[in-house]
Amino acid sequence: MRFNKVLDNIKTYEAGKPIELVVREFGITPEDVVKLASNENPIGTSPAVAEVIRKHADKAHLYPDDSMFELKEALSKKFAIEDENIIIGAGSDQVLEFISRALLNENESVLMSAVTFAMYEIYAKQMGAKIYRTASWEHKYDEFMEAYQMYLPRIVYICTPNNPTGDATSKEEVLRIIEAVDPTQTLVVVDGAYMEYAAAKDEKYAITPKDLLGYEHVIYLGTFSKAYGLGGMRVGYGIAQSQLIKALYKMRPPFNITTLSLAAAIEAAKDETFVEKSIALHQEQIKRYESFAKENGFEYIDSYTNFITYLFPDEMDSTAISDALLKRGVIIRNLASYGMNAVRITVGTAKQNDIFFRHFAEVIA
Ligand SMILES: *Cc1c(COP(=O)(O)O)cnc(C)c1O
Repeated sequence: MRFNKVLDNIKTYEAGKPIELVVREFGITPEDVVKLASNENPIGTSPAVAEVIRKHADKAHLYPDDSMFELKEALSKKFAIEDENIIIGAGSDQVLEFISRALLNENESVLMSAVTFAMYEIYAKQMGAKIYRTASWEHKYDEFMEAYQMYLPRIVYICTPNNPTGDATSKEEVLRIIEAVDPTQTLVVVDGAYMEYAAAKDEKYAITPKDLLGYEHVIYLGTFSKAYGLGGMRVGYGIAQSQLIKALYKMRPPFNITTLSLAAAIEAAKDETFVEKSIALHQEQIKRYESFAKENGFEYIDSYTNFITYLFPDEMDSTAISDALLKRGVIIRNLASYGMNAVRITVGTAKQNDIFFRHFAEVIA
């Protein structure tokens, strides 16, 4: 079969390895597998949300409310915005796809930091667009502006906090980039998938959708997959001025999230206590990862997310370490494919982290 030429250039997204794979390949019992690879919420799904999902089990034959009225209402209350400013996606991933399809073609380009969320590149390449990256993985104003003036990209991606590095860009810096680009030519995507963690750590990094709603050329992305504990339900959102949302709606298939996902997200949006609990546990546990790195003589990136990125010296190889851990049933994310001798570890529960530290210490010994 002959496929579109753009496919030659696309590397398939490498998702975090599932527990089932480790069970199959290494014969480890599922209970002994610790998955710290996909930035899922380690404390699970809120019990109130799980109850709502069960309650809706016998509605699986019904299409969901395609207007998603209740979910939009919950989000507009939470963020002090209007329904017309919201589009819901099957994960914020799907909103990224809508954006890409609405704005890109083979004559356009996109700009992002050196190491950032892999899907920006994949969606842009699907449209045949060119990819430009700054030299640093941090979002540096000068680097972005130099590249911006040179390439005049159609989309600028700002992932803050950034995945897979964990660093964040201050609200002041983000606004500086937004104000420096041409609003008639370029859309700035502010991806806040981990914003709940950053906002709780330092308010200098807290960006709300409302902070950006005054700009016609900006969209804020959020997700229920991380702090809200709903990765398996696939619900995310984009928030922007209504004219932009209307354009993205033309790219949306009907019923793009499921009846159960919709019910779950409505409940999750109201359940702030669960998010607070998740963040409190995380803030306590991440300190252990920082101490562990110091004790073992390697660096880490100060994290504003629910994961931590360990940077290894040459004598420690991220691929060898990740593979050895995998055989022991500990799944983490190797960043070798991003050109870094580093690993990304989702901060787990106290018990999961105990297991991680034990195996990691043995592996590097
Ligand atoms: C997890 C993640 C997303 C999207 O996740 P969905 O599950 O598709 O909502 C988007 N951006 C970044 C940076 C992420 O880490």
